[in-house]
Amino acid sequence: MTASLYVHVPFCVVKCAYCDFHSTPISQEPGVADHFAWAVGEGVVHWAALGALDDVASIYVGGGTPTTLGPALVSLVEALSRSVRLAPYAEVTVETNPDTTDAALVAHLVDAGVNRFSLGVQSFDDVVLRTLGRCHTAASAQRAIEELVSAGAKVAVDLICGVPGQSLDSWRDSVERAVASGVGHVSVYPLSLEEGTPLAESVASGALAAPNEDVAAEMMELASARLAAAGLRRYEIASYARDGDESKHNIGYWTGRPYVGIGPSAASMLPADVFEAAIACEAWSDPGVTGVGRTLESVPAGTGRIRFVRSADTIAFLRKPVGPPEEVEYLTPAEAAAEDAMLGLRLADGIPDALATSAGSAEVLAGLESRRLVEHVDGRWRVTHSGWLLGNEVFEAVWNAGARRGLVWHSL
Ligand code: SF4
Repeated sequence: MTASLYVHVPFCVVKCAYCDFHSTPISQEPGVADHFAWAVGEGVVHWAALGALDDVASIYVGGGTPTTLGPALVSLVEALSRSVRLAPYAEVTVETNPDTTDAALVAHLVDAGVNRFSLGVQSFDDVVLRTLGRCHTAASAQRAIEELVSAGAKVAVDLICGVPGQSLDSWRDSVERAVASGVGHVSVYPLSLEEGTPLAESVASGALAAPNEDVAAEMMELASARLAAAGLRRYEIASYARDGDESKHNIGYWTGRPYVGIGPSAASMLPADVFEAAIACEAWSDPGVTGVGRTLESVPAGTGRIRFVRSADTIAFLRKPVGPPEEVEYLTPAEAAAEDAMLGLRLADGIPDALATSAGSAEVLAGLESRRLVEHVDGRWRVTHSGWLLGNEVFEAVWNAGARRGLVWHSL
């Protein structure tokens, strides 16, 4: 089985004002980073023993900010390389932030096998960075990019548009500086106000203006045109890359490749038979999961997929790196197809006819074609430029087409 491996590092320098990811400022207690690296190593050994990591197409160490672990991150990456069987040309990505990107650490990570860094820049405007509660400046982001590029690894940067107070000129300048930096991959996201975050509270209290969707859409269009002109092809709704710099790991998510997630709150998605092998192991001897196993006995052998999520409790993970999941979902083959069709349409290459048919979405896609939101070319369905602008409507329609046929989610 070809799979991806995701490691979630739940630590950051500080919590950004807009962030609802599972992350906390890293503890200053000595030994935490080393203990975390050890715990991840235990998790990898467990999944490798079950045969889930025999052919790993990509590793992504994300979070959080993995580089807050410092030298322990190098040990963590070395442990991964020792335990998994990496496919030829496998992509090994580490997420980082400008203020934790250190030339010596980067060099050691590259020596340990990291060949791609994803750097959270978000903006090259210090005022916008302060609104977002980022702990770095535009100058430190620039320095970090230079260090990563000179280390010889591929570099991806993220930018956020539609931030309160962000002008079109400020956004244009950030896109220009991303292009000028020479990175091969840029992701562009509109700001999403997440409930309970300090930024959402500032907007609710009137201290900050609410993000304007039309302005954000205009900014996305500006970025799309400028990045395309610079040779960065839009290969996914929010992702632009030079040829060969596309994210193999993310393409795995969008094309239904199984993945193993390790770390607090990490999700995994595996074929049902691999999951059943995990249930049988002693470390998972939990009555709830055993019950899931009994329910799976009614599933035709070897069909469908399971998605499951570890507890978000970091202390619990450090105490017991290998343990039963907190949530489990079973997807029938038809449900899995509906999900693959919805996610595959995020890609510029779209989905083949066969997948549209097994997902039950061919009729809905024909309807969307009449509105010019999708097109049918050479046996594939692809979202058009107008469709990108209404992406959520298109994806929801395809997903609901599956749901109308009774292909619904259920938790066990
Ligand atoms: S660095 Fe990323 S994960 Fe950490 S708080 Fe900021 S947005 Fe969240």
